Amino acid sequence: MAASATTTPPHIETLPNYVGGEWVAATATATQEVRNPATDEVLARVPLSDASDVDRAVAAAKEAFPGWRATPPQERARYFFKLREVLVAHQDELARLIVSEMGKTLDDARGEVQRGIENVETACGIPSLMMGYGLEDGAARGIDEEVIFQPVGVFAAITPFNFPFMIAFWFWPYAVAAGNTYVIKPSEQDPLVMRRTFELIDQVGFPPGVINLVNGGHDAVNALLDHPEVAGISFVGASKTAAYVYERGARSGKRVQASGGAKNAIVVMPDANMDTYLSTIMNSFYGAAGQRCLANSLILPVGNAHQTARERMKEAAAKLRVGDGLEPGVDMGPVVSAAARDRIVGAITAGVAEGAEPVLDGRKVSVPERPKGYFVGPTLLDGVRPAMKVYGEEIFGPVIGMSPVGSLDEAIAQINAADYGNAASIFTESGAAARKFRYEVETGNIGINVGVAAPMAYFPFSGAKRSFFGTLHPQSRDAVRFFTESKVVVTRWTAGDGAPVTGVGR
Ligand code: NAD
Repeated sequence: MAASATTTPPHIETLPNYVGGEWVAATATATQEVRNPATDEVLARVPLSDASDVDRAVAAAKEAFPGWRATPPQERARYFFKLREVLVAHQDELARLIVSEMGKTLDDARGEVQRGIENVETACGIPSLMMGYGLEDGAARGIDEEVIFQPVGVFAAITPFNFPFMIAFWFWPYAVAAGNTYVIKPSEQDPLVMRRTFELIDQVGFPPGVINLVNGGHDAVNALLDHPEVAGISFVGASKTAAYVYERGARSGKRVQASGGAKNAIVVMPDANMDTYLSTIMNSFYGAAGQRCLANSLILPVGNAHQTARERMKEAAAKLRVGDGLEPGVDMGPVVSAAARDRIVGAITAGVAEGAEPVLDGRKVSVPERPKGYFVGPTLLDGVRPAMKVYGEEIFGPVIGMSPVGSLDEAIAQINAADYGNAASIFTESGAAARKFRYEVETGNIGINVGVAAPMAYFPFSGAKRSFFGTLHPQSRDAVRFFTESKVVVTRWTAGDGAPVTGVGR
């Protein structure tokens, strides 16, 4: 979407930032339209905040840090208990906002909000989660050793368009519950749900500056990456951006965790129970119109699983109803933008030109009741080989590449040869095949008869290779560790005679 000020009707609002507990207008004057992908209607304008806007938010977070850090963990957790109740009370409203600006179906959006709330629930356990450990006489007789985990300062999250609510919650509840202060920079493509979320956060009454919102695009990201007062960055987005964020953030001494793109595969063994698992397999490809980082985009049927999988999937995909995600009965909404639609259609065309067979072609899908929507229909390309671009490149749309293989070994080798390492699934009735898969496959998340192997809030959201840059992952204890610094304390107390206080012989 271009940053233009000419086509927007005058009643359309430019979103504010939330800094130091107040709604403030960005000083940057450049803005960008936010559109409903099902209707093309302009919903709002988002400011493209600049370095001075970022500076203001970071300054507020820095000022809030000493007081927040000194607030005991149990007290900090109470804010999150309250936040959880407020979010649950507004779950449906938040989900509808997500559909209106991102396009996924209402059920999917409700699930997204639920996943975000579960991270709040998990962060409520912060007193246990950030507890250290110690060992009496750990260093020597009479010398004890312990480790404590302390908050670090100001952290920031930079998030993608596809989960405009949930992904910020992979990070900030853990960071703030652990005693840090925070800045969120949501995707400029769908910032409305985070604006509403901050209105709800405001009701909870966190001390001013503890949690801040800066809307914007690349300038805001760069300002956060370079800011000397930002201790660390959590990023989720495309691999190219993730690699850039990782490098630029590290250059100014920040800790960075950066999740990237994906090209996830499922392996269907000849003994797979297609009756039981067909719907979960279909959902893993076409849910959110393929715009999930855990969406599958490749299917590797082994041996004679090929014909069955091809026929069953073609039949099921042809029945999916494409339309406005707010309409009941719709299985698949639009993709996020006209640019995304054009890119996905282009990738299908290029795949066919490379030799893939379009078993089902979604390029010319028709949705008469939403003629201006950015729709792509379910697409199934067979005969996709690893050497083809359509095999290796992330399309991030409702496109399945089917790549038949002769054996499980061949399937695993193909998965492990890829640049990405986000997720992979196997469908089989064989425990031995499943164990081999889990043991050998080099992806961060593995599904066994599960299409979308999404980790719950109390597990790390893993990822490997070009799908994740860093060490500690989003969510759970990994997040708490990312947002804290360990300090080791070695202590000796001696009695008046200089002897260790051991109690032995005294
Ligand atoms: P994106 O990389 O285009 O944008 C992500 C964020 O980075 C946005 O906030 C954007 O403003 C900023 N950004 C983008 N380009 C930038 C640049 N050149 N300089 C500075 N900032 C920049 O990603 P997207 O299109 O919003 O999201 C889709 C991608 O995210 C897909 O690749 C998907 O696989 C990935 N994703 C990964 C995970 C995961 O857990 N691994 C989860 C969700 C999405």
